[in-house]
Amino acid sequence: AKESGRNAYRFFLPEMTHRVTHRLQVEAELRCAIETGELRLHYQPQIDAATGRLCGCEALVRWLHPVRGLLPPDQFIPFAEQSGLIVPLGEWALREACLQQVRWRDAGLPPLDVAVNISALQFRRRDFVATVARVLAETGADPARIELEITESALMDATPELVASFDQLVALGLTLALDDFGTGYSSLSYLKRLPLRRLKIDRSFVDGLPDNPEDVAITSATLSLARDLSMDVVAEGVETEEQRTYLRSRGCGAMQGYLFSRPLGVKAFGEWARERTA
Ligand code: C2E
Ligand code: CA
Ligand code: CA
Ligand code: CA
Repeated sequence: AKESGRNAYRFFLPEMTHRVTHRLQVEAELRCAIETGELRLHYQPQIDAATGRLCGCEALVRWLHPVRGLLPPDQFIPFAEQSGLIVPLGEWALREACLQQVRWRDAGLPPLDVAVNISALQFRRRDFVATVARVLAETGADPARIELEITESALMDATPELVASFDQLVALGLTLALDDFGTGYSSLSYLKRLPLRRLKIDRSFVDGLPDNPEDVAITSATLSLARDLSMDVVAEGVETEEQRTYLRSRGCGAMQGYLFSRPLGVKAFGEWARERTA
């Protein structure tokens, strides 16, 4: 045991040093990337289940890295969360999504709901509501068409302050959605206390529809809970016609997934939207 302990130590150390160096390097690069404008938002269409029409989109961040190309969020969001850089990154994403909504409006596209992901770290900041209000005022975006997506981890300690700031966000005219519903481990009591308008059914549950009995049970329960609480539901990760048919027949209001479109850059999204609304 002692032998293996020493080996473990010997092998662990350089590996750990490497990881720490890597982390610090990514953090430094990411800090620069936010300042120099290497981040991009891609937009994934959301479809009204009843009409099949485009009804909104979700803004998803990418990093256009000068050497490594277009990086998906999994490769840098965890570093951003660890380092706190998610706060300026998230503010950038909110501002950019608001600006894009205004650009689309000016270009004559029909009004679109734009959903933006907000990290728990952002919500916990005292100045969050003020920041959002400032971004809305500076960009001229329509708050009624901006949705903030939060995950259950942001609600783990639903303090009176948190509840108050949610109410203030709603008073600003924004919509709040609960992302990755069912994957966290908080109690359902926050659904009663917080002004959440939409639930997003996580892709991990949509995956097994319509055959996997557990996924069917969780999806039906979510849909009926939402109905009883007068909330809307968006299913994410819809990839097949069968999933679409199933979800529509169960009263799911909106869908998002590769069946309709992957997240698209601004230009491609504009073309996609025009083709479908012409
Ligand atoms: P998410 O918020 O759950 O976003 C949905 C993810 O599912 C996106 O991955 C999207 O591309 C992917 N997806 C959508 N439809 C399908 C489908 O039909 N099949 C499959 N296999 N995947 C699908 P993406 O863009 O890689 O984003 C990953 C995560 O990164 C997001 O998960 C979100 O948690 C985080 N993220 C992205 N942008 C931001 C941001 O601006 N701020 C914060 N805090 N997090 C972000
Ligand atoms: Ca999301
Ligand atoms: Ca999600
Ligand atoms: Ca997710």
